Amino acid sequence: MAAQEKVVYMDNNATTQVAPEVVTAMMPFLIESYGNPSSMHTFGGQVGMAIKEAREKVAALLGAEQGEITFTSCGTESDSTAILSAVRTFPEKRHLVTTRVEHPAVKNLCENLETITGHKYRVTRLKVDGEGMLDIAEYEAALTDDTAIVSIMWANNETGVIFPVEEMARMAKQRGILFHTDAVQAVGKIPIDLKSLDIDFLSLSGHKLHAPKGVGVLYIKRGTLFVPFLNGGHQEHGRRGGTENVASIVALGRACELAQEKMVEENSRVKKLRDKLEEGLLATIPKSMLNGHKTERLPNTANISFEYVEGEAILLYMNQHKICASSGSACTSGSLEPSHVLRAMGVPFTAAHGSIRFSLSVYNTEEEVDFVIEKMPAIIESLRKLSPFWKG
Ligand SMILES: *Cc1c(COP(=O)(O)O)cnc(C)c1O
Repeated sequence: MAAQEKVVYMDNNATTQVAPEVVTAMMPFLIESYGNPSSMHTFGGQVGMAIKEAREKVAALLGAEQGEITFTSCGTESDSTAILSAVRTFPEKRHLVTTRVEHPAVKNLCENLETITGHKYRVTRLKVDGEGMLDIAEYEAALTDDTAIVSIMWANNETGVIFPVEEMARMAKQRGILFHTDAVQAVGKIPIDLKSLDIDFLSLSGHKLHAPKGVGVLYIKRGTLFVPFLNGGHQEHGRRGGTENVASIVALGRACELAQEKMVEENSRVKKLRDKLEEGLLATIPKSMLNGHKTERLPNTANISFEYVEGEAILLYMNQHKICASSGSACTSGSLEPSHVLRAMGVPFTAAHGSIRFSLSVYNTEEEVDFVIEKMPAIIESLRKLSPFWKG
């Protein structure tokens, strides 16, 4: 059998290919236009113009004003900046509301806030049901006068489940509570129009959106009280010190522009491919099931459990066919722990261990989907033959 040359990349919730148009847009800022945007001379000033244009493009995709866009180094920095700003703005408030399924960027920050302050901070972590959905009544009951900020992701990176952040932001606003959403997985995949919403802070990351790694954005709604995380020069309207990562900022602007131009048609194509993949795998592989809500979900993500097999073993077999995806279990100290997201959803251990996240992008093709549907049944079957628990 001739070795297949091309990688089948279905791990786009981990990171994405930089779009060729984006590479083209950023190149001049790595080669000839290397000035510092803060400089007085025209050579640097021109670079400042490019940042301004990028800011406008990001704002346009989000339905925001350009003054509401602050460039950061990544999604993690944006998440931290928003939450720590709220904590510093309201030092007397000692309560945070979040969910049990947040990305580590939010999850671990909240845990640290509790522990390093000797539990002066109290964190409410909202439950999810078996489909990964929140209970709005539980959310409403969690909001108190002591709550400094709510931080709830727009879409989950593991399952793609979408939360009703518009409604939850409105409820927070009515109580005078700041609302942050980690929208790293949502931006470019579902429409977002911030001007009509009560969201105070929104985080996004370049590398989940076909821009390079190492650049992100924090949207700060006009009028929202804000305390910077990085103090330094006057960059980013004094909201984030540090000389701008110009090439990557320009790249992110171009990536947002591409997303805006093509979002509707591309995402409906991606969704068709995802649905074909999902239906194909569920139909041909016994004891397989979807993790996450069937419809309240990103168009590109399918998290599927194959019972009685280990996710990491599946990935190794997939790797032999150059198929890239992720598993919902991580090998920690020799024992396979299912992810906190699948555990919060109550996915049984026999299924959580064998969960695989397929996350597609505009660069996937129908041939690739067919290839994966063709290869997976034999992979799962051969692993199950090795399992003492499988009585197929
Ligand atoms: C990837 C991701 C992040 C972190 O973004 P980085 O730019 O890698 O720091 C945060 N939240 C979610 C939901 C993500 O998927």
